[in-house]
Amino acid sequence: MKIVVTVKLVPDPNAEKKIDAGSKRLVRTGIETVLNPYDEYAIEGALKIKESLGGDTTVTIFSMAPAASKEVLRKALAMGADDAVLLTDPALEGSDVRGTAYAMAQGIKQTGFDLVICGGLADDGSTGGVPGALAEYLGVPGFTNCRQVEVAGGTLKVQRETDSGYQVVSGPLPALVSVTMAIGEPRYASLKGIMGAKKKSIATLALAALSVDGAVGGDGAKTEVRAVAAPPVREKARVVEAPDGAAGARAIFDLLKEKKLV
Ligand SMILES: Cc1cc2nc3c(=O)[nH]c(=O)nc-3n(C[C@H](O)[C@H](O)[C@H](O)COP(=O)(O)OP(=O)(O)OC[C@H]3O[C@@H](n4cnc5c(N)ncnc54)[C@H](O)[C@@H]3O)c2cc1C
Repeated sequence: MKIVVTVKLVPDPNAEKKIDAGSKRLVRTGIETVLNPYDEYAIEGALKIKESLGGDTTVTIFSMAPAASKEVLRKALAMGADDAVLLTDPALEGSDVRGTAYAMAQGIKQTGFDLVICGGLADDGSTGGVPGALAEYLGVPGFTNCRQVEVAGGTLKVQRETDSGYQVVSGPLPALVSVTMAIGEPRYASLKGIMGAKKKSIATLALAALSVDGAVGGDGAKTEVRAVAAPPVREKARVVEAPDGAAGARAIFDLLKEKKLV
């Protein structure tokens, strides 16, 4: 079985971020690029399935990113993935969720897959829209927000997180799932894994090698960022002091009344 894990390469989540006023996009220069932290959970989920199935099950990492970030994928290989594919082309720059999902689908079809595993959210773009759109462009069932994923006898069985609990859903392969952090803590790369990753393949794929007949990149974007603003600074909290409970309740009531909340 062939498992493909989608991994976005994002600016270090702990670094201070700036938005370029002209392009309204995140300034990425001067900030270290890392694996999207949520995608490390997707890698963990894939490695667990590989361990449970054994045999000739493989895990391929798939990323769409600028070519300069290629070596960042080595960390995913050190965790235990077998190989990686980087879809990269200057014409993809400025892709929105639709363009990203469309281009990735063409690349993943060419790579081949039985199961695609995505993280739930990218730390930078954070729309959470790619997995659903990708399932649609791949033409396979999409199971989102999964906290457990099992494959047995060619059938997929997942537990989907909901607000009040979880649903148990099953379906055929090929399919796509997106996982939550409940899938299990990502493993650390061992020294053996780090050494072994140096020899693993990271193939690059350009648009010319794919059958892309729709617009991608900035030209194909159907969404436009109109404005970007910092969240409003929160007012300083007011501390209400009172000699006893009754006086405290009165002070809180007066405050709520002043704010026209009661
Ligand atoms: C040359 C080039 C330049 C790019 N520049 C930028 C940029 O400046 N800013 C930016 O945000 N994006 C950039 N991208 C990537 C792409 O446009 C975004 O990934 C896309 O907008 C995804 O939206 P999101 O971040 O909200 O993802 P979400 O929907 O929040 O992501 C959910 C999950 O989908 C998967 N996923 C999402 N995007 C990718 C990806 N690119 N590769 C693999 N898996 C993915 C991951 O598993 C992720 O956990 C660039 C790509 C290329 C090729």
